Amino acid sequence: MNVLVVGGAGYIGSHAVKLLAEVGHTVVVVDNLSRGHREAVPTTIPFYEMPLADTEGLKRVLKRYRIECVMHFAALAYVGESVERPLAYYDNNVAQTVSLLRAMEAAGVDKMVFSSTCATYGEPKVVPIVEETPQEPINPYGRSKLFVEKILADYATSRPAFSYAALRYFNVAGAARDGSLGEDHDPETHLIPSLLLTALGKRPQFVVFGTDYPTPDGTCIRDYIHVEDLCRAHIMVMEALQAGSRLIYNLGIGRGYSVKEVLHSVERVTGRKIPVVYGPRRPGDPAILYADATKIRRELNWTPEYTEIDAIVETAWQWFKDHPDGYRRKS
Ligand code: UDP
Repeated sequence: MNVLVVGGAGYIGSHAVKLLAEVGHTVVVVDNLSRGHREAVPTTIPFYEMPLADTEGLKRVLKRYRIECVMHFAALAYVGESVERPLAYYDNNVAQTVSLLRAMEAAGVDKMVFSSTCATYGEPKVVPIVEETPQEPINPYGRSKLFVEKILADYATSRPAFSYAALRYFNVAGAARDGSLGEDHDPETHLIPSLLLTALGKRPQFVVFGTDYPTPDGTCIRDYIHVEDLCRAHIMVMEALQAGSRLIYNLGIGRGYSVKEVLHSVERVTGRKIPVVYGPRRPGDPAILYADATKIRRELNWTPEYTEIDAIVETAWQWFKDHPDGYRRKS
């Protein structure tokens, strides 16, 4: 298929571009490079530096390449920042998605695979989280993604030819197996990269956010899914879309690891002792989040290849060791 990846220069989008090209799809990338990296997209792939607000520009790209499906990864994705700058989140994540949908409508493109998030569930009372778990986000980031899910549903009702998938990611982690791509955020706040940057000596210490949660070791539990498993699911979902489909899936491995378990994994994989400080809770962190990911397994036969945290950390470690300063400067 001819696929437009918007946000294709970002962490997850760039892995999707790589995989799509590897399995024989024709890929075009649009990214405004506000958070992404030009270096993450091969020069052989058509690349447009363009804001999603540019409806006319998007329409031209969609038509020029006879795009059949859009994978939409372009979003701001920091919970804390979304609390401080809600309008930026609603503009970037919601309003600009409407612009993208308008361009798709004008160009007659009727398939979208949308990056949603488990943050749309907020703090669920019951885990594991199933797709029917009530969506009650607790911050503007989660709400911006939920609004887009609702917009997609309404738009699909108005346009029977349209089909979409909303994939609710849990904690995406790891890097391309061949070492060519990885995570390069500024600031980097995620658990595994923070631990690895500490292992490399680029940070003096690692702070565990809270040790008094109602979990076996007192630290938060999350579901870490390898970025390549996640991207493979996108392709399976895209290939399953037919006029009128509305596919909603959780994407996790269905198993939780605590912050301390991930810390120990990083120490095992790197062979380095991490200087740790035990700090207070980070506001807004639910104690336990992990997916019931059986729906996508059952319906599309997707299974994650990476189910052990050490294997996921291994790929991330390979990337950070080789690229301690991200894409800009290779060691
Ligand atoms: N965490 C931590 N120290 C850090 C970064 C993260 O203890 O420096 C914890 C965080 O409180 C959460 C888990 O690690 O319980 C995963 O956090 P991350 O930001 O990677 O993802 P989130 O689950 O918030 O989307």
